[in-house]
Amino acid sequence: MLDIYPKVKPFLRPEGIKAIEDQGLFITNEGEYETPLINKKDCAFVIFDDKNIAKCGIEEAYNAGKIKWKKPISCHLYPIRIMEYSEFSAVNYHHWPICDDACALGKELQVPVYKFVKEALIRKFGEDWYAELEKTAKSFK
Ligand code: SF4
Repeated sequence: MLDIYPKVKPFLRPEGIKAIEDQGLFITNEGEYETPLINKKDCAFVIFDDKNIAKCGIEEAYNAGKIKWKKPISCHLYPIRIMEYSEFSAVNYHHWPICDDACALGKELQVPVYKFVKEALIRKFGEDWYAELEKTAKSFK
């Protein structure tokens, strides 16, 4: 974050920049890193396009070819949440009603969540892990 911020900053809203300047590029909460919030609501990196669709300012900088890091892995994985235990990582779907429309579309298009977040799962666990997951998922059909 420290390295990329100068290239991400031009994509951000003034209120996001202010939140970052006041709180820092990241905060810690119970030992976990989190992005700072604007007035305890939006992430400081949220931006809105001309259709008022919320987007990630970090990802927009990535898509524009300004940086090589897409966004925090926890954001990239969402709605999958990872809980680290001493001997394993728990990979769970996080249900949030705000995502119901996306779930309905995924069902219609027959895109299960593990396929929707394929890139992020490979980023987190690697190609071999994902290939095993696909094999396991097929065995449940
Ligand atoms: S994807 Fe993550 S970093 Fe980007 S705007 Fe959303 S919460 Fe913030």
